[in-house]
Amino acid sequence: MDLVFRQLQDQKSSTYTYLLGDPSSGEAVLIDPVLEQARRDAALIRELDLKLVLTLDTHVHADHVTAAAILKKTTGSRIAVSASSGAENIDVPLHDGERLKFGRRYLEARATPGHTNGCMTFVLDDQSMAFTGDALLIRGCGRTDFQHGSAEALYRSIKDRIFALPEDCLLFPAHDYRGLTTTSVAEEKRFNPRIGGARSEQDFVGYMANLGLPHPKQMDAAVPANLKCGFIDTAAPALDADWAPLRYTYSGIDEIDAEWVAEHRRELQVVDVRDPHEYTGELGHIAGAKLIPLGRLAAEAEALDKGVPVVAVCRSGGRSAQAVTILTRAGFGKVANLAGGMLEWHMRGLPSADEIP
Ligand code: FE
Repeated sequence: MDLVFRQLQDQKSSTYTYLLGDPSSGEAVLIDPVLEQARRDAALIRELDLKLVLTLDTHVHADHVTAAAILKKTTGSRIAVSASSGAENIDVPLHDGERLKFGRRYLEARATPGHTNGCMTFVLDDQSMAFTGDALLIRGCGRTDFQHGSAEALYRSIKDRIFALPEDCLLFPAHDYRGLTTTSVAEEKRFNPRIGGARSEQDFVGYMANLGLPHPKQMDAAVPANLKCGFIDTAAPALDADWAPLRYTYSGIDEIDAEWVAEHRRELQVVDVRDPHEYTGELGHIAGAKLIPLGRLAAEAEALDKGVPVVAVCRSGGRSAQAVTILTRAGFGKVANLAGGMLEWHMRGLPSADEIP
């Protein structure tokens, strides 16, 4: 059966977020979304024509704040977390064996406590993939020294609930600090240094008691926020800018529609980054647009006013996307790319300079 699948990363916390979608219905779920990446994830979901129905957190994280709340506010997704996590604001409190549907596909929630008491592993319907959170990492596992952790419980969870999956089942963890992405049941059974091969429960518990890890830097802020499923007042990055109805793209650029630019032309600085012969060529240019060819923009950015929003324009929206990057780097806070460039401007019948009386 078909599946849309993406593995996304938050570099700061080394967290992996997983997008799974059913192409026939367009319904999708996100596993372990990170607050700071909510705009990126929402942009990808929109560009893939998916509808986010659920966010799933494998557990109450100690190293980042979940994006569950902000995605619920902006996309209407529901929040699913283990019922035994102790978290508030859960829409779908998860119990062992529960099926989480997205279109024609589903994930089975498996209780895999030990790293925390509310850890869940999410197993895809055909058991080809499982999302292990911090229960099992690639050649490692989550620590068991806080949040009601238990090395004995984690040993049983991995052995009885994760290693019981088919040998070729791919395993996707919540983190990897070396950039490793995927493993399998067979691989971890053989090579996991803590629990693979001939390691006994006693070996495992002894190993876990002597990890000597520091207190996680984000823990004191992240755990209370995640116990509310991310419903916090402070530091929530807005998904939408306040100065214009921008559309953030998965490529990392804010776009703005031509009609809005046409209506608000006088409140904006329009920067045309094409070459001079294009500016005066057949597509014409937007009235009042300042011509600064892309190659000169970095050097001549000071000719623009940082206090007034900037919209960059070119022929098709490609060079002007690079202009947005250059201006952002130069310290411009309000800057957007004219979606589709002058081609789109004309297709929508908007006037160029010489047509305005
Ligand atoms: Fe964790």
